[in-house]
Amino acid sequence: MSYQHHYIDGTPIHFPLGKVVCVGRNYAEHAAELNNPIPSEPLLFIKPGSCTVPLNDSFAIPLDRGVVHYEAEIAVLIGKPLSKKPSIEEVRDAISGFAPALDLTLRDVQAKLKEKGLPWELSKSFDGAYVLAPFVAGDTYADLTDIAIRLTINGEVRQDGNSSAMLNPIIALIQHIAGHFSLQAGDVISTGTPAGVGPLVSGDSLEIALGGQESFASRVL
Ligand code: ZN
Repeated sequence: MSYQHHYIDGTPIHFPLGKVVCVGRNYAEHAAELNNPIPSEPLLFIKPGSCTVPLNDSFAIPLDRGVVHYEAEIAVLIGKPLSKKPSIEEVRDAISGFAPALDLTLRDVQAKLKEKGLPWELSKSFDGAYVLAPFVAGDTYADLTDIAIRLTINGEVRQDGNSSAMLNPIIALIQHIAGHFSLQAGDVISTGTPAGVGPLVSGDSLEIALGGQESFASRVL
């Protein structure tokens, strides 16, 4: 299901939401907490735009497929096409927004898929698997290597990260991605999760904040 996504001030975004290109293990401490090695180049996977839902007052999680983990991430909205080897300036110019997002993961399902060397879609691309807050403008942050992302659940801070700790910083990551997949206006880059991932259960209240300012509250149905 797609929806009209928008900026935090209510301004609509005039292109349809495309794919969500995600990076796994982009923070060393998160790779370590799941006993994963740090990859030598970015570990990429794609969530279809159709699995994205807006971060409203509440959102649903699957209740019949084992543990659902939250992964709070900085989402970057692409506003212009990028392909081949875009320059730093071209990437910067193509960034149209930032938002906090939850990359929901069926962790038990993913563990089985990983064990068998199978692709991750069943654990990562189910309906509702990407919960996306409204965007702030693309020029909100002068320094993309200093954007805070914080997730609080039931009043307790669970994830408190900063883009300064990314193994692949935002611009270099997008340059790398565009070298493999063409990016279109409306695509989103999900830049990986800091340490502190864990299970979500029905009734949890969440607060997710980007840049130490824009903060959104929600609840798991
Ligand atoms: Zn993730």
